[in-house]
Amino acid sequence: MPEKFDVIVVGAGPAGTSCAYSCAKNGLKVLLIERGEYPGSKNVMGGVLYRKQMEDIIPEFWKEAPLERPVVEQRFWMMDKESVVQFGYKGLEWAVEPYNNFTVLRAQFDQWFAQKAVEQGALLINETVVTECIVENGKVIGVRTDRPDGEAFADVVVLADGVNSLLSKQLGFHREFRPDEVALTVMEVINLPKDKINERFNLEGNHGTTIEIFGDSTKGNLGTAFLYTNKDSLNIGVGTTLSSMIKAKLKPYELLDYLKKHPMVRPYLEGGESAEYLAHLIPEGGFHSVPRVAGNGVLVVGDAAQLVNAIHREGSNMAMASGQMAAEAIVEAKKDGDFSEKSLNRYKEALYGSFIIKDLEKYKDAAHTFEKYPQYFKEYLPMMNQAMSKFFTVDGTPKKEKQKQIMRSVTAEKGTLKVMQDIYRAWKAVK
Ligand SMILES: Cc1cc2nc3c(=O)[nH]c(=O)nc-3n(C[C@H](O)[C@H](O)[C@H](O)COP(=O)(O)OP(=O)(O)OC[C@H]3O[C@@H](n4cnc5c(N)ncnc54)[C@H](O)[C@@H]3O)c2cc1C
Repeated sequence: MPEKFDVIVVGAGPAGTSCAYSCAKNGLKVLLIERGEYPGSKNVMGGVLYRKQMEDIIPEFWKEAPLERPVVEQRFWMMDKESVVQFGYKGLEWAVEPYNNFTVLRAQFDQWFAQKAVEQGALLINETVVTECIVENGKVIGVRTDRPDGEAFADVVVLADGVNSLLSKQLGFHREFRPDEVALTVMEVINLPKDKINERFNLEGNHGTTIEIFGDSTKGNLGTAFLYTNKDSLNIGVGTTLSSMIKAKLKPYELLDYLKKHPMVRPYLEGGESAEYLAHLIPEGGFHSVPRVAGNGVLVVGDAAQLVNAIHREGSNMAMASGQMAAEAIVEAKKDGDFSEKSLNRYKEALYGSFIIKDLEKYKDAAHTFEKYPQYFKEYLPMMNQAMSKFFTVDGTPKKEKQKQIMRSVTAEKGTLKVMQDIYRAWKAVK
């Protein structure tokens, strides 16, 4: 007779591990199953890990976790072919405890985090693929794996199997994605000595910077690129929705190549050596794409539940928070001895009452708006660059006249009414 657990968690990313950790800490018998050689071996992330949600799970984790740099500066670039309009924030309050966020390398971080769950008592099994959920009388009672002795049983199975969650699809919780609901992102880790990074990014000691790049980084298509500093490497990546990629006939690796050679980006990378090349999907459908998250004996967390706020680059923190909420619901269900959907819906209630669903709801129309009206990335970003160039070029024209010329050139190209409509629509999408 195979062993029975209180909880089986499928996937040792941030969502699954936080759930396994919190369940084990509460005395539950937990099995954490990961298909990779080790946790983190199959995981991809630009690299920003937020402090708050991790700290809620392991207080003062920064004292021992393998982190790269605390981020003290966040920059945003509106990039054209040979220019960039920049804004951002740098604050030294982020350089000291409790910090705001950190850059991390997932291959190291996920291993460390999973080990913490093991120390709490969870049993971690790597190199094991869960092939399906075992369902009996409408209730999930366990999982079937690709191992010869491959079945395991539990009161609750938590699906933390990432963006493509085949297991949620098998249960009918998920439908297939539409191409506008996922972004395909490619990234590279580029080794560069620490002193060069600090010099190029104007950093001191272990301080880190993140740069989000819009506009020509995606050749004007809906999407973003990023450039983040690690201790002695850089993470650079770019992605667009699958639908944009198909429409514009873009190839992801060509886009990354284009970005690396861009005159605004190239100087940061010069002399660096490529260490890793990765590609992954990001669930970007937001509020409208969140599937059913609770059933009889089963919960869905993290990317598997499509919990990513693409505008704020938040995914791993939502994964962790959802994993922890799932754990809290399971602990309560265990007290009642009731693992029905009704009982496990405590998780859904917590999720919908939290910042996660509230933030996804706030931006529920953003991606669709910017995809439907491509002028924001294709026309307004270049216009912004041209306006700045005109305004800051000293050519003897009085500044007031320059302002008028800029306004005239924008309205002449688009028409005043159209510009007003576009501004209103963009404001509505993100308000
Ligand atoms: C390029 C890129 C950049 C990003 N940048 C950021 C960022 O800077 N900050 C941020 O917060 N978020 C970022 N994200 C999003 C973030 O990576 C995800 O939101 C987060 O990893 C989700 O965690 P998860 O645990 O739900 O899923 P994952 O991290 O995808 O973990 C799922 C795990 O399940 C395992 N698995 C899958 N199927 C099975 C199976 N059948 N059996 C056993 N195991 C299985 C996988 O191997 C994997 O380890 C980025 C994503 C990408 C792709």
